[in-house]
Amino acid sequence: EAKAHGRGEWRFFSDDMDARLAASLRLESALRSALAEGSQELQLHYQPICDARTGAPVKVEALLRWNSPTLGPVGPDRFIPIAEQSALILDLGHWVMNEAMRQVAAWRAAHGHAPVVSVNVSVRQFLHKDFELQLYSLLLLHGLPASQIELELTESVLAGEDEELQGLLARLRDAGWGLSLDDFGTGYSSLSYLARFRLSTVKIDRSFVRGVDQDARKRSLVRAIVSMGHSLGLVVVAEGVETEAERGVLLQEGCDQLQGYLLGRPAPAQDRPPTPAA
Ligand code: C2E
Ligand code: MG
Ligand code: MG
Ligand code: MG
Repeated sequence: EAKAHGRGEWRFFSDDMDARLAASLRLESALRSALAEGSQELQLHYQPICDARTGAPVKVEALLRWNSPTLGPVGPDRFIPIAEQSALILDLGHWVMNEAMRQVAAWRAAHGHAPVVSVNVSVRQFLHKDFELQLYSLLLLHGLPASQIELELTESVLAGEDEELQGLLARLRDAGWGLSLDDFGTGYSSLSYLARFRLSTVKIDRSFVRGVDQDARKRSLVRAIVSMGHSLGLVVVAEGVETEAERGVLLQEGCDQLQGYLLGRPAPAQDRPPTPAA
């Protein structure tokens, strides 16, 4: 409703909306300074993705962490959506890709090999006209093969369903990039996306994994995704595995890889030396 403010101005915001808008503007401007060179507020953590049978780590997912001097630690679930409302997500996405590749190159230099690193990519970033060029500039800069990086996309990226998008995904796959569909089952879904686009991996969302050992419906859903994924030649990953009971069921249902606190929490690179060769 409209309210009178000081100096006679009328504003069509409730106090609550005002407060939320102010908070999000504050966050956006703090994030801008986090991206300034030498700020050291941003860091990537890495979480292992493990072979379901042996438990051996086969990949790692890069997860962005932000420690703001003014706001304290802020989680990506809070700041990514705000960055996505502006062009800020492009700079943030570039920072993440560059940092992930820098780390992979450092692991390769130190150990002769590195695990595939899976990097989350926002819709707006992925659909930007310069994205593909940026990927290759960064690969060249860090001297890496495309096969070291997997791009994690959400279903919203695929909702466009145009030919240009299909072409881009096919080109990336042909060039060796991994393409993974994140949070599967939470979007507009979805089984049709799996068939239409050339992906390499599908990740079953945590909401279907949590308590899968105690919920026959979740279990049927997992079974359906595994069967569909395998018939399309995709690697099926279960996200958010926290208990042995969940692990047991996911293994029985044929998931190929598992990710979750049970197998390892996200941690800074120095705490997570790469075990597997890529
Ligand atoms: P996501 O890509 O689905 O990442 C998995 C999230 O689940 C991570 O949360 C991870 O820490 C958390 N997780 C992993 N195992 C478990 C578990 O066993 N139990 C529970 N409860 N949680 C688990 P995080 O790091 O807070 O990231 C949240 C979301 O923020 C990510 O979801 C992703 O969508 C987004 N995000 C994170 N980093 C980036 C980034 O660099 N770029 C973009 N565009 N998005 C990012
Ligand atoms: Mg992800
Ligand atoms: Mg996910
Ligand atoms: Mg997510």
